[in-house]
Amino acid sequence: MLSNSWSNYSPYFSEDSLIAGFTNRHFPYTSANDRSEFAKILKLDYQKIVIPKQIHSSNVIICAKAGNIIDTDGIITDNKNLVLSIQVADCIPIYLYDTQKQIIGLIHAGWRGVNLGIIENSIDKMRELNSESIDIKVLLGSSIRQCCFEVGPEVAELFDKEYQEIGKSDRMQLDLQSIVIDILINKNIQSENIVDIKECTCCSDKYHSFRRDGDKTSRMIAMMGWQS
Ligand SMILES: [Zn+2]
Repeated sequence: MLSNSWSNYSPYFSEDSLIAGFTNRHFPYTSANDRSEFAKILKLDYQKIVIPKQIHSSNVIICAKAGNIIDTDGIITDNKNLVLSIQVADCIPIYLYDTQKQIIGLIHAGWRGVNLGIIENSIDKMRELNSESIDIKVLLGSSIRQCCFEVGPEVAELFDKEYQEIGKSDRMQLDLQSIVIDILINKNIQSENIVDIKECTCCSDKYHSFRRDGDKTSRMIAMMGWQS
């Protein structure tokens, strides 16, 4: 596998055995089996992958075992044997890590999920596992940004005007990353513990982009887990 087919986000968590990866368009993602291939590249246990069926919801689940999970967009675990995975192609892949309790999470955050409260739900689920907000690090991976994220009035009205710039005709350009960061800060996550990769999937031909390439576009895989 080409080394330029994925990005390594692990250094942001400064924990040697905690691995966080994100594939790009040079990674051939055609089936769920490709998650196993990516896990092997990351030296994570490919038999312990958690695979949610994503539905743009605000559902977040605490996972206890590997395999498929029905209808959820956020997965959290304190089981260091599990390998979390989600897929995205413009939506924000959000990586969570509690540095004290060693809880990890992956969230698929698009405008629907953010509007429904997936960010708040994710932090609440970590608290169910006794996380303290002050210990949680958050990374927002490559995703569509305000430069390219044009929305119609029916989406724009769901969000505060301070996160929008006027676009063409009745369109608005939405800054979903800033919305997410402000929700996190409201949930007492420390701003210095939030990293935004600031790479637009639609501008950069390094990535697949649903907005740019349409229905037939492939996806990127976000994966997080512990090397044993
Ligand atoms: Zn862009």
